[in-house]
This record gives sequence, structure tokens and C-alpha cells, in this order.
Amino acid sequence: MSFVEVSNRPHEECGVFGVWGMPDAAALVALGLHALQHRGQESAGIVSFDGEGFYQHRGLGLVGEVFADSAVIASLPGCSAIGHNRYATTGGMHLRNVQPFYADYAFGGLAVAHNGNLTNAATLRKVLVNRGCIFQSTTDTEVFVHLIAISLYSTVVERLIDAAKQVKGAYSLIALTPDNGLIGMRDPLGVRPLVLGRVPGYEAENGGWVLASETCALDIIGADFVRDIEPGEMVVINNKGIESIRPFGETGRRFCVFEYIYFARPDSVLEERSVYTSRTRIGAELARESAVEADVIVPVPDSGVPSAIGYAKESGIPFELGIIRNHYVGRTFIEPTDQIRHLGVKMKHSANRTVLAGKRVILVDDSIVRGTTSRKIVDMVRAAGAREVHMRITSPPTKHPCFYGIDTPDESKLLAATHTLEEMQEAIGVDSLAFISFDGLYRALNYPGREEARHHYCDACFSGDYPISLVDRDGKLLQ
Ligand code: SF4
Repeated sequence: MSFVEVSNRPHEECGVFGVWGMPDAAALVALGLHALQHRGQESAGIVSFDGEGFYQHRGLGLVGEVFADSAVIASLPGCSAIGHNRYATTGGMHLRNVQPFYADYAFGGLAVAHNGNLTNAATLRKVLVNRGCIFQSTTDTEVFVHLIAISLYSTVVERLIDAAKQVKGAYSLIALTPDNGLIGMRDPLGVRPLVLGRVPGYEAENGGWVLASETCALDIIGADFVRDIEPGEMVVINNKGIESIRPFGETGRRFCVFEYIYFARPDSVLEERSVYTSRTRIGAELARESAVEADVIVPVPDSGVPSAIGYAKESGIPFELGIIRNHYVGRTFIEPTDQIRHLGVKMKHSANRTVLAGKRVILVDDSIVRGTTSRKIVDMVRAAGAREVHMRITSPPTKHPCFYGIDTPDESKLLAATHTLEEMQEAIGVDSLAFISFDGLYRALNYPGREEARHHYCDACFSGDYPISLVDRDGKLLQ
């Protein structure tokens, strides 16, 4: 999947990364954010703390662009820092929306960043504005900042818990405070990921702690994976050690299943499950479910690659790189017009004629959202001489929008919500089209089927079964 396809495909949400008790914390956070770049390419920011004051830098662009100048990192001193990179799911792309946010409270400074989306942000914002709160940004993250400010509790940890109990939605949050240290928190159902890691060698000072959206960001700085932060868990990390708090008591678990299909990097391990292995298993299930005679299996790069490998192994049909992705395309995803998007796809993907000419091709991709990108890829493969083009999709049909931090268009623009399978097949111009079944998807994740898995995962964009109430949306519907 490529980011040129702005509104044609789901977009990642955000990545968060925090470090406690290590020299050059800001540089380590920049590296962590770089490893999480796939989760958001629009902006990046870091706030550091050196024991006396906070330092911050934010900018629009890739991590490598925002922190290209070594003087910028040098201006962020301290042994603790948090960072964030972002794809704007709410609030639009403006510098004032770039996280982490920093606020000076009566109790001291606090920097906060979060990944996900609050489903009652607009409702809470109205209440807060009526109470006199002045918002600086248009993001829902700032709701946390104001809820913490007006809380009647005394400690920052209590205020954060107070805020978390008022918000609804999916979030993984990290915060940095002078007294309490580094704080990490997952929403009560743990929809978005957050992992704890530790760099060896800092045990004596109680340092070396890392919080990250994915384990691939631990690897880049040599941190060992310690464990997932549990759904509804808050961890407070400082010189005294690490404290785990369960403000919501025992909670359920509804992890985003699309992290396995597409969002996460394949070398990450989520909820003790390898993303790469999950994808190859999904590909193998898909091959069992929807076999078709063909000469080559071709992934739509990059996210389709592990599942295409699984499909090829299971089917015995050779895996070939029939579509080559140019990794050096600029940030064309910001261009708004259909015309430019069309150009973007052609810039980013090229058909490998040697592999495709005269062949019956099975294209393996992770999802179809609007269908326009799929159509262009299919046309490109046919133009390169493919005799037949079959498409196999490693997710069930995307029929519903995500309200938990993934940018998907509304139902009217989702191809699967408005077309039958036959109509979709025709719209994207393939000889056959098949999606993995819910049971097949969950079998690949080691469950007997969806019935046994549905209480552990969110699959709302496929099923419409939303595990967290959609306060703002339902409020609008009632108006
Ligand atoms: S709706 Fe889809 S993308 Fe959003 S959290 Fe649920 S599974 Fe993930």
C-alpha cells in the first residue's frame, strides 16, 4: 500500500515513542519515530525534559526532514523525551496540531501525545469551551490537556486518570512530567498498540525504559521487548521504578485486527503475535478459501508481500515481483486532486512486464477502500500483457468507517458498502475477486473462527460491530 493513494486506502494513525533515563533521549526518540514512520508521515514532534525544564520541537514532514538538522536534536537536552508522528485523522494538517502537546499547569509542566481517536471529543470539547477552555488546536488530543487542567484531583496521575475516565475512544497515550516521569496508558479495550521495552545497561539507575507503538521501534535503538501495556493499564516510570495502575479495573480486549492485516510493520510483534507470520498465514488461508488457476502470485507492494508469500506457498504457484514500487517518490499524498492521485499511482508503482506478459496473474492486496487505486493497478498489470488478472484481498470487505483512529472515508465512498461482489469485480476490472472470510482471518490468528475471536478484536470496519460507543457520531445522527 502506498501513501500516494490519499483517500483511496485507509491511512495509518500515529506513532508514539517515549524514553526514560538514557542520555541523548531526544536522539533516541527521533530514531524510534523513524522506525514508526509508516504510522504517520505528515508531521513529527519531540518534547524532552532535562530535570529542570522542557524543550520542544515540532514540524510538518517526515521525521528525517523535521529533525534533519543535528542542532535541532542538540536543542532538546535531557534523559527523558517523548515523540509523536502523525497522520491527521482529526484536526487537519497544521503546525498547531502537531504533537506532543505541552502545557504549563499549576502543578508543573506536562507533555502529552496520543495515537488513536476519541469518539466523544466533539461532545467534550463543547462542554469544555462552555466552561471557558480556550483550545489552541483542532485535534482531539487537546481535550486530554484541558480535562487534566480542570480536574479537581491533586496529582498529575490522578488527573490523567480522571481525564481518561471521561473520554471514550481508542488511544495509546504517553506523557512526560517533571515529578512522575514517563507515563503510558492504553484505552480500556486496548484497541491501539503500546509496548514496553528496555535498553540493557541502565538498570542501576532505573533507566533505559522505552514506550513505543510497535516493537520495530524498540529494535532500532537496541531495546529489548519487555511486554505489551495491557488494555486499560497505566504505567508510571521514574527513578523509583515502574508502577502499574489499573484505573478501569478488569477490562476486555478488542485489539484492532487491521494492525495485523496492514497497519503494523511486518517485523513487529503485537500482542505476542508476529505480524509477518500472521500475514503469511492469512495469505495461506486465502489460498485455501479462494483458489484459482494461475501462473504467478504478485503482491501489491509493500503490504501485500508477506500474504502473497503465504498464498504462493500454499497454492504452489510461483511468487513473483510483478509490480515494482519506487520508494523515492516524494510526498505526493498531500496532493488533493484525482488527477494528481492518478499520476501518483503511476509514479509509485510500475508493472514488471517480464513477469506479467502472457500470464494468468493473482494480485494479492490488503484491502479495497474506494477501489480507484485497485482499478489503476489492474489496468497497469493488463497493459503489461497479463492474460488474466485475479484479485485476492487479505481482509474482509471494508464496509464501514473506522472511528478509532484510522482514516477511512464514509460509507457512501466505500466500494464494498455500495457494490455487490460482482459489481466490485467489474468496477476494478478483474476476472475474479475474493476477500478472506472472517473465519479464515481468525483461523490465521489461531482461533477456530470469528465467533471465538470476536470478543478479543475490533473488526468494525468489516463487520460494523463497534466495540466503543460512537458518542459524537450518534449525537449528530440524533440532531
Ligand atoms: S474499525 Fe477497523 S481499522 Fe478501526 S480499530 Fe477497528 S479494526 Fe481497526
